[in-house]
Amino acid sequence: VVTISGISKHFGPLHVLKNIHLDVHSRERVVVCGPSGSGKSTLARCISGLEEYQSGQVKVNGIEISPGASHAERIRANVGMVFQQFNLFPHLTVMENCTLAQKWVRRRSKEEAKDRAMAYLEKVRMSEKAQSYPSQLSGGQQQRVAIARALCLDPSVMLFDEATSALDPEMVKEVLDTMIMLARDGMTMVCITHEMGFAKAVADKVVFMEAGSIVSTERPDVFFGEQGDERVRRFLSQVF
Ligand code: ATP
Ligand code: MG
Repeated sequence: VVTISGISKHFGPLHVLKNIHLDVHSRERVVVCGPSGSGKSTLARCISGLEEYQSGQVKVNGIEISPGASHAERIRANVGMVFQQFNLFPHLTVMENCTLAQKWVRRRSKEEAKDRAMAYLEKVRMSEKAQSYPSQLSGGQQQRVAIARALCLDPSVMLFDEATSALDPEMVKEVLDTMIMLARDGMTMVCITHEMGFAKAVADKVVFMEAGSIVSTERPDVFFGEQGDERVRRFLSQVF
């Protein structure tokens, strides 16, 4: 679904992504981790077409993704994104948050958009709050709505950028459980997270980034195992 071939990105003198190669196949779950500033969010933004890069290529569903991509191309590539800050529209209800893009981007009728929104809100167990405003919800609830909103657009891949790190500990689990459910449903997912329990439970591969490079790509059992890369073991011992 996603093919990243040799992308490099500079912010002025800062070389933030250095010749990154990564493939994400259909139904694959990839966890990306690594120290702060290693380029994880920048990579996610390149995949979703929010960020320019200077060389290499990102393709989603065979469509080349860059900030120059046309609206039609973006719709066909169809990357769903969930951020650390939930980014719901504060002046719209949960239902309106979930139907707005469906109507404008997908040109769905009001009824069709509502039906689909309700189905996904039920899936993330938020249908009872359909008429609430984001400020009336807990962080975990807002994040589940953000996930439902992204799913309403039938994404071919879902990107999660530290979707649980702004949450109070008791809400982390409900969002992780929602992500695990999506993984079990066969969603193609790229998850930037330091939730290593999640990585062990669902990841097909764990990508470790350091200073703009992918240092290792391993199955979780190898990644967390004794014989893993020295830099990875140092990182894991600092995080836990
Ligand atoms: P974290 O774990 O803290 O979220 P990260 O791995 O997601 O870190 P990025 O946000 O991708 O890291 O940032 C990578 C590097 O790029 C950092 O050194 C950061 O300061 C720099 N950077 C990010 N965005 C910009 C920007 N818009 N302008 C200049 N430099 C930036
Ligand atoms: Mg980040």
